[in-house]
Amino acid sequence: MKYDVAIVGAGLAGLVAACELIDTKKRVLLVDQEPENSMGGQAFWSFGGIFLVNSPEQKRLGIKDSKELAWQDWLGTAGFDRLEDEDAWAYKWARAYVDFAAGEKYAWLKSFGIKFFPVVGWAERGGSLAGGHGNSVPRFHIVWGTGPGIVKPFADKVKKAIKEGFVDFKPRHRVDEFIQKGDKIAGISGTILAESFAQRGEQSSRLGIGAFSYEADAVIVASGGIGANVDLVRKNWPARLGAPPKNMVCGVPAYVDGRMLEITEHVGGRIVNRDRMWHYTEGLKNWDPIWPNHGIRILPGPSSLWFDAEGNRFGTPNFPGFDTLSTLEAIQKTGYDYSWFILTEKIIEKEFALSGSEQNPDLTNRSIPQLLKRILPGPPAPIQAFKNHGEDFVIANDLKQLVDGMNKLAGNDLLDFIKIKEQILARDREMDNKFTKDVQVNAIYGARNYIGDKIVRVAKPHKMLDTKNWPLIAVRLNILTRKTLGGLQTNLDGAVIGMDGLPVPGLFAAGEVSGFGGGGVHGYRALEGTFVGGCLFSGRQVGRYLAGASHSHN
Ligand SMILES: Cc1cc2nc3c(=O)[nH]c(=O)nc-3n(C[C@H](O)[C@H](O)[C@H](O)COP(=O)(O)OP(=O)(O)OC[C@H]3O[C@@H](n4cnc5c(N)ncnc54)[C@H](O)[C@@H]3O)c2cc1C
Repeated sequence: MKYDVAIVGAGLAGLVAACELIDTKKRVLLVDQEPENSMGGQAFWSFGGIFLVNSPEQKRLGIKDSKELAWQDWLGTAGFDRLEDEDAWAYKWARAYVDFAAGEKYAWLKSFGIKFFPVVGWAERGGSLAGGHGNSVPRFHIVWGTGPGIVKPFADKVKKAIKEGFVDFKPRHRVDEFIQKGDKIAGISGTILAESFAQRGEQSSRLGIGAFSYEADAVIVASGGIGANVDLVRKNWPARLGAPPKNMVCGVPAYVDGRMLEITEHVGGRIVNRDRMWHYTEGLKNWDPIWPNHGIRILPGPSSLWFDAEGNRFGTPNFPGFDTLSTLEAIQKTGYDYSWFILTEKIIEKEFALSGSEQNPDLTNRSIPQLLKRILPGPPAPIQAFKNHGEDFVIANDLKQLVDGMNKLAGNDLLDFIKIKEQILARDREMDNKFTKDVQVNAIYGARNYIGDKIVRVAKPHKMLDTKNWPLIAVRLNILTRKTLGGLQTNLDGAVIGMDGLPVPGLFAAGEVSGFGGGGVHGYRALEGTFVGGCLFSGRQVGRYLAGASHSHN
């Protein structure tokens, strides 16, 4: 049987593309190497943070945002510097994406029944000049229901189309090759994998039990990034970020293996911006892992003090939640692949959030009673569980004990108690006035001018060494692999560009495998909430193009 379109990967990008095709009754084949229960891919596990510009939620909180401001932030963050070549399409995608985020995106998501938590988060705050990296205003809109809440409407629509016979869904089908007819991509072939009883997110076997081959007029590659393939992450690691970390925790399930990139390259697809990646610097080893080497990212508020492995406090812009890439570079240049937060109980109560749907049961289950517990004293239950069981936490009622515990955990004696104490004391002396020369303390005061931060996100400024704010807490922070910013270069229809600069006939891509559009819509850095959003947008673009509903001006 010949399909109109074959889609490789039932993650968010693949699902959104399928939804557009269903609308025009195209015959769609959707394959995924994982079991059926994995539909939605990484987006299911995501926190569901979405980048929106000038939304009703922002306006209600008194945030003045605009497309111009968002574009200024995007450009300052992306740092596109390969415009003639690798960034040529990425830049066009960035423009189109900011237009979408400031325009149609909100209403389109609402039309799928998607709603947002009323407090808008402020991710990647920047920490340098207005034209530089970061969000000038809060834009991180958390989907009510987190990742599962964003996946469900698209998955439901696809499941209905499966029942109605418009979509053939084939889980445990791993694509290994493309079918080629002349210079055209004409289908997919690969291995049928043995049935697996792995739960969603758990590693499933790669035991092959057969082969498959299906023809299609067009193929969309929507296979995700490379985050679980640490060898590839290390291979692509750019020298500007220092040496690749020896130890990393893994922020994505094992199926984010990057295999399809090379397979697509073999048939002429061009991979650009391989050296651009978005890994986090606040990774915890999950005490209750789902996938191999499972790491969880802390989404930190701005108050924790951040020290390198030798106990030197980082300077601007390397404060919690300000500039991920700059901090990653600073950490890697120390020669150690970990760093430390030192904070108080008062800070952890308000400022620690964990990225991941399963780490936010209140938001994921849309439970207002559970959510209200966040305003009670003490950290939310998932954070308390990490305090109790997580191997990266040290808790003490005395700074000397804390530093001794940190050295014990690291298995060395790199941290000197007096040196740490002097730095914390110096910072505490700056807390007597509401004006200060300490840039991080100033940023805390600045953040509290935003009502959302004041209510739920930023602890009241206090002295760290004042015992009434204790116990003291230290957290060892690992590098956590997550997003792939480069990938298959695509035009605005999602057609994969070949080495000659022209579309490879019949070959399309969407989502993380295409650098969220164009082979790197983010450039070097991200404003956050733009990955799920980039999958929605790029999946929609290619789906609409192949459905015949839209033709962009390429
Ligand atoms: C814990 C976590 C939190 C996150 N939080 C956020 C957030 O708050 N905001 C945000 O914007 N982003 C977030 N992200 C990132 C975002 O979720 C992902 O970038 C996005 O979902 C990627 O979607 P995708 O469809 O491109 O790929 P994926 O979700 O990776 O799906 C690709 C699918 O393709 C399949 N596949 C791969 N190769 C083959 C093959 N050869 N044959 C058959 N099938 C194949 C895979 O099995 C997989 O199911 C988060 C990610 C994680 C893991």
